[in-house]
Amino acid sequence: MKPKKTPMRMCVGCREMKPKRELIRVVRSPDGAVSLDPVGKKPGRGAYVCRSEACMKRAIKQRQLERVLEVQLTEEVSRQLQETIAALPPPDGGDQPLG
Ligand SMILES: [Zn+2]
Repeated sequence: MKPKKTPMRMCVGCREMKPKRELIRVVRSPDGAVSLDPVGKKPGRGAYVCRSEACMKRAIKQRQLERVLEVQLTEEVSRQLQETIAALPPPDGGDQPLG
């Protein structure tokens, strides 16, 4: 049996390639609003960041997020993104393995 291929994405904070499920999607909706998209299903242009406040901060500070999403982040949105990512549960926070 073949191992399942893991989709990889680059974190715009640390610029490392990581499995998509370990990253969190940041989406710019068609109306220009920027928000976190933990489910990965929101419409719009997306960027990926580690589930880490440090990576999110770096992505904002180095303007990588703005570049990838082609949007200008206000200070308020930047703060919101950092607060939201800080409040996320850890990636393997006690959930049951499937199957
Ligand atoms: Zn990262």
